Amino acid sequence: MKLPQLEDLPDVAGKRVLVRCDFNVPLAGGHIEDDLRIRSALPTLEWLTGRGAQVTACTHLGRPKGKPDPSTDVAPVRARLKELAPDVALMDNLRWDAGEEANDPAFVDRLVAGQDCYVDDAFGSAHRAHASIVGPPARLPSAAGRLLAREVEVLSGLLNDAKRPFVAVLGGSKVSDKLGVIQALLDKVDALVIGGGMCFTFLAAEGQRTGDSLLEADQVDACRRLLALGKRIVLPSDLTLLGPDNQVRQGGTSVPDGWKGLDIGPGSAAEFSDVITDARTVLWNGPMGVFEDPRFAAGTRTVAEAVAACRGFTVVGGGDSAAAVAQFGLDKEIDFVSTGGGASLEFIEQGDLPGLRALRESVNA
Ligand code: AMP
Repeated sequence: MKLPQLEDLPDVAGKRVLVRCDFNVPLAGGHIEDDLRIRSALPTLEWLTGRGAQVTACTHLGRPKGKPDPSTDVAPVRARLKELAPDVALMDNLRWDAGEEANDPAFVDRLVAGQDCYVDDAFGSAHRAHASIVGPPARLPSAAGRLLAREVEVLSGLLNDAKRPFVAVLGGSKVSDKLGVIQALLDKVDALVIGGGMCFTFLAAEGQRTGDSLLEADQVDACRRLLALGKRIVLPSDLTLLGPDNQVRQGGTSVPDGWKGLDIGPGSAAEFSDVITDARTVLWNGPMGVFEDPRFAAGTRTVAEAVAACRGFTVVGGGDSAAAVAQFGLDKEIDFVSTGGGASLEFIEQGDLPGLRALRESVNA
């Protein structure tokens, strides 16, 4: 499982090093709303420039369709990088070339041209077999950057020797996205707590009415099978509902027609908190409700506070839950906030990722 580290590269002094970063920062009107992803790459970039390497970084940004598009220009990222790491150059958005997502060998040729070494610090993209992720390690001496290495270390630790009780808390909208990870987690955890839109498919599997809440009818049987495994799955016992005339009220887990469950209720939030408080390891991924709307943020906030207060080792997995924790000002209380939501879930499910395999099989490994 061991990944080649920066120390395993040939001496980088005077060498050209290509670094794949995940600088896919949130942008609003060309302005960077949060530069955490850029700052997170600095240990790797500084390690290289400090040893005399000539560093060129590359990243994707947004979802351009394989051709240049001004709304996904990396210019704002380049400007911020110039302030933080003046000696590091940045290529154009990788996804401006269709060869990136297609993993086209000709595009890999262009990426590695003139480079002596490759470093992958883009954990958030390690689940994609894209050209800049899996191509260079087959051509150049390669290593994991510090951020990627730390992500893998933390997640491997959760899977292999988490202190018990180990509690996973899952939320977010779609259960179909997360069935694989739920299955994998049920073998590892002492309790799996489920909130967010995905809880309704489980509640339906238990025979509850879900009204107009999110429901993936074609996944009800799969949820029923997971419930029948006899593992400890904690579902909400009450909900915060939105009615047909936009009225908000608390209710039980049987949702009337015309009503939608948009957050877990206060009783569930308290029960979830108790399970989290007792844990010695917590993994949280996905909000408990539509937390972007203050009327439905209470469940996510209570869970975030419980994770923050938990004395065990706490990990928040990327995307919306990381945003929620930051929104509530609790990010400093979490032991590890993953930069890669999708990648961390896929790592938990599969135990490996294409980008990691490529590094292990690199020409110098
Ligand atoms: P995901 O992209 O699957 O991680 O889901 C995140 C999204 O799920 C957030 O934007 C939430 O607003 C949404 N969400 C959470 N709970 C619910 C719910 N009960 N009904 C609808 N959407 C929800």
